[in-house]
Amino acid sequence: MPIQVLSDDLASRIAAGEVIERPASVVKELVENSLDAASTRIDVHIAGGGAQSITVVDNGQGIPADELSVAFERFATSKIDESSDLIAIGTLGFRGEALPSIGSVARVEAISRHADSEAGARYLVDFGKANKVEPAGAPNGTRIEVTGLFQNVPARLKFLGSAGRELSRIQTMLASLALVYPHVAFSLSADGRERLRTIGSGKLVDAVSGVYGAKIADQMLELEPDQSAAFSVDGLVSSPSLNRSNRTYMTISVNGRWIQSRRLSYAIEQAFYGFLPDRRFPVAITRITTPLDDVDANVHPAKAEVRFLREDLVYSVVQRAVRGVLSTSAPVHELGAGRASGSIGLLRTPGGIGRSEQSPGSSDRSSAGSGFSQWPDPSAIVEQSRLPESNAEATSTGATGANTPKETLPVLRVIGQAHETYILAEGPDGVYLVDQHAAHERVVFERVKQRFDQNVTESQPLLEAASVDLAPGAMATVQEHIDELNRVGWGVEEFGTNSLIVRSVPASLATRASGDGAGQVFVRVLDELNEGGTGETWRERMLATIACHSSVRAGQVLSIDECKNLIRELEQTDRPNTCPHGRPTIVQLNVNDLEREFKRR
Ligand code: ADP
Ligand code: MG
Repeated sequence: MPIQVLSDDLASRIAAGEVIERPASVVKELVENSLDAASTRIDVHIAGGGAQSITVVDNGQGIPADELSVAFERFATSKIDESSDLIAIGTLGFRGEALPSIGSVARVEAISRHADSEAGARYLVDFGKANKVEPAGAPNGTRIEVTGLFQNVPARLKFLGSAGRELSRIQTMLASLALVYPHVAFSLSADGRERLRTIGSGKLVDAVSGVYGAKIADQMLELEPDQSAAFSVDGLVSSPSLNRSNRTYMTISVNGRWIQSRRLSYAIEQAFYGFLPDRRFPVAITRITTPLDDVDANVHPAKAEVRFLREDLVYSVVQRAVRGVLSTSAPVHELGAGRASGSIGLLRTPGGIGRSEQSPGSSDRSSAGSGFSQWPDPSAIVEQSRLPESNAEATSTGATGANTPKETLPVLRVIGQAHETYILAEGPDGVYLVDQHAAHERVVFERVKQRFDQNVTESQPLLEAASVDLAPGAMATVQEHIDELNRVGWGVEEFGTNSLIVRSVPASLATRASGDGAGQVFVRVLDELNEGGTGETWRERMLATIACHSSVRAGQVLSIDECKNLIRELEQTDRPNTCPHGRPTIVQLNVNDLEREFKRR
């Protein structure tokens, strides 16, 4: 085929593909236009997952009748002009591409009335074909209806998911926008059913309530402003007892723009390290404010990503803010409270008690609704761990981070061991079960971490050195981290390209891992190192792995004195309520619940 210039029509359909990938992209572009127009209410109606129709109605400033057709021309925008520098862009749109793109791949009807006009106007673009602007009665604001999306682009149509799948994408996206703009009242309805509604009060917690429900809003912790930070970060994060199995519940904005950033999500996840079980994710809304010229929004066709001038700094400010609020509370998980009233399954099902030791999130929580894993309402105990005396203690011990208030354990009287796994104890408010492995992990972890932080190496030579075969590339990891590995007590020697010899181990491991066992633990530690992350957290993960393999196992018989010793040691730790991986060490059967179960009142 000879080289030829594409027709305008074909060229614009191809260009549309960059901005408009699926129904959710249409909704995003239209809603962002509504936000740029200073709307305070935005209603979105969807039919057939958006492939059938998408309607966005706003009460913003509107488009003057004589500009309505211009808005649909390529690169037509009211948001920047020749004098703008493309650096400090304060609006969500700026390229003038969305309306023409949508207009080239759908039938679009726009009805708008500008704030200064007596009457509105209507304009129709039919798969790239323009019509005349006509007068139309309309309230202030803009209403855009998109039907038959991608009917003229079969390739794109083929890649759309089911209506339900596309709707869920739209809902996730709109939920994020609603969280980033709490002063705007959003609603989403699909095929006549309401899916989301926020009231636009301006309070973030109200937006959370509208998007995720009041129960979740109640369990959010507010990030505290840090005047000393270079940027400001505010928002809400879930208390650790509330978590999810995926990352979609983390919303991040920069200067009012909703962004997706793997790195920043990761920063938040890392801040939760030690507070959440493996592979569980928080609900979080993090709003970052930086000087406008610190971010470049013009790097992604859909403007979903931004580039930071000082990325590491942003990353650490976010991490510190989230970590800070988490440090102030990590309650004992109370069994029984918060369950559907009248439910006595807990005491009847012998297997029931053990489940929070497993993965608290994946176990059955049908009563919690909306798929959230919810440990029972911890508020009462949060109060307890904030008692002034526990704070005073924190400043005097100051073992791990002087600014981290110490958690306290209730005063416990050990009764014995159950199932060779749990230590049974009585406390002021009920009966407590302590997971012996998790508790010991916590104890060893803090000890090992303290030595590590003080640069004290405690190493134990192996009677019989162990040889270890490494995964390709792992030797580089060993070389890179050899100082830290030595410091924590590992003595290793290279032995050929992909294997090495372990000669000595961290002292805490010595009794439990010898010979080949030591080699296996070493491989696990390398895995942790390979996972990456910034300094602080991978170090903690490495120490947590060592602690895990140094600790008493489930299924091991403990004498009553050993139980008592372990509880005493646990009491001395800074975070007695969770193991270093974030699982609870202790659960409580509330005495009031027991009385109710036994019909004593
Ligand atoms: P951009 O948002 O990049 O400027 P668009 O193609 O999305 O480009 O929109 C073109 C123009 O149409 C905008 O600059 C704005 O002036 C106008 N516009 C679009 N939607 C609305 C709306 N809902 N309310 C007011 N003006 C709008
Ligand atoms: Mg736009």
